[in-house]
Amino acid sequence: MSQAEQETVLSYINELKQKYNGDTLHFLQVLQAIQEKFHIVSPFALQEAAIAFSIHPSEAESVASFYSFLETKQKKGKYIIRLCNTISCDLKGKERIARQLSTELGINFGETTKDTLFSLEKCHCLGMCDQGPALLINNLLIPKVKPSDIPVLIEKCRNNSIAENSSSIISNVIVRGPLLDENFKPGEVLKPLINLEPTELLSIIDHTDLRGRGGAGFPTALKWKMAYGSVSDIKYVVCNADEGEPGTFKDRYILHKNCHRVIEGMTIAALCIGSSKGFIYLRGEYSYLKPIIESVISERNSENLLGKNILGKTGFSFDIEIRMGAGAYVCGEESALIESLEGKRGEPRNRPPYPVDTGYNDKPTIVNNVETFLDIALIFEKGAEFFKKYGTSKSTGTKFFSISGDCSREGIYELPFGITIKELLKKVGAENIKAVQIGGAAGICIPEKEFANTIAYEAIPTGGSIILFKQDRDMLKVAINFMEFFADESCGQCTPCREGNIKLLEGLRMLEKGECSSSHLNSLIELGKTMQLASKCGLGQ
Ligand code: SF4
Repeated sequence: MSQAEQETVLSYINELKQKYNGDTLHFLQVLQAIQEKFHIVSPFALQEAAIAFSIHPSEAESVASFYSFLETKQKKGKYIIRLCNTISCDLKGKERIARQLSTELGINFGETTKDTLFSLEKCHCLGMCDQGPALLINNLLIPKVKPSDIPVLIEKCRNNSIAENSSSIISNVIVRGPLLDENFKPGEVLKPLINLEPTELLSIIDHTDLRGRGGAGFPTALKWKMAYGSVSDIKYVVCNADEGEPGTFKDRYILHKNCHRVIEGMTIAALCIGSSKGFIYLRGEYSYLKPIIESVISERNSENLLGKNILGKTGFSFDIEIRMGAGAYVCGEESALIESLEGKRGEPRNRPPYPVDTGYNDKPTIVNNVETFLDIALIFEKGAEFFKKYGTSKSTGTKFFSISGDCSREGIYELPFGITIKELLKKVGAENIKAVQIGGAAGICIPEKEFANTIAYEAIPTGGSIILFKQDRDMLKVAINFMEFFADESCGQCTPCREGNIKLLEGLRMLEKGECSSSHLNSLIELGKTMQLASKCGLGQ
């Protein structure tokens, strides 16, 4: 790096230091900004950023090396082409697209062209499972790519005519329920609640038995009551928009088309727990949604639905900031997400303490999924009894399902909890199905003989990802695809997960080649049991 280049980097880091007041909580944003400007977080930039933000250089390096969107070794190309590696895109012929890309650019995946115009990468789930194979070129999402599209896209990049920020992708919504009622008027739900006591609001949520929609199903009222009871000068509301589970794409649609409702739900949460600051943690792959969300936030600020003394209520102030993820699946786990928000490696924390007590910046924090906030807005719009009309006694309300794979009607379905897999298959036009993967790669694979089971927290729980496989699909290939994902996305904290996923992947590849003995297979099964017992978070388990 020349002296002039070093000076440019230094001056930019100084700018960032002033912008963020040298606060380490913004360190990830600093690295993201450096990456965006220089296409690399060079060792020089990393060292200088560490000095500017008073972080030990080794810690700075560990943050930079954690996120796949940050590159510390080789400058990334002006255009980063990411091909979705998820099984849903696999089923639709992703490999042909991969070959075409490599041939056209003359590089392999993981490489950058000599003229530094293009980098070619595989990534995990772009949230386009109903419209695969999917590509992301910088911020531009491209669905249903055909091999013949590749030369055209590359040529457009070469002559600077690709419209990088024009993604207007929406998903196919096949079945709409009450959550997607489009007659929602911003502020109308919040206005009648503004002077109610938090305890009154919390008891209404409690009455609905709403459970978090991220997949774990923790009772929302219980979580929020604990945060309400925590004494602190500041509390935080976090919307987990890091939808990264392979096969899920509903939050992308919700944020695109129902963002007001999500933010209304977040504002009600702030009212419930006494929070003045919110974050939307948006996955890096959805960066095209950022301006859409920003415009909703600014509209709500100008309508006094966010900001100071909301709707004239003295002392009730609530601001929302968008923070971008940087390509790490494990940040969908709430404590890892908080670590990432704090500018660190997104590694899951030991618990207790729980975020409701010691969350972002050690302050009480609630983290809820996009869909949960939508449910909150609906509950206060239509009432607890209306909400409880849907679903089962232990799983109230409706649920969004992202359906992809072997069926004729892929897309988003809003259906009540309690539907059987068999009923679902009929609705989506699926025939001759032998297995249904529920809950993404980290979920469970249901064989045909269990299709009478229902989808609900008390039976088969799910965050919403459902991938269908017909009779002639090779399930070993599916398992290999999932294991590649886990081996790649393990944060590496726990040895059984870090090493075990690689061993399991090697074992599956041996099986594929017919080289895995039954005694080795048994040892892999034992390894799997150890991983379930000894891993800290859901990924390893
Ligand atoms: Fe990280 Fe895996 Fe441990 Fe989770 S189980 S904390 S992903 S190493």
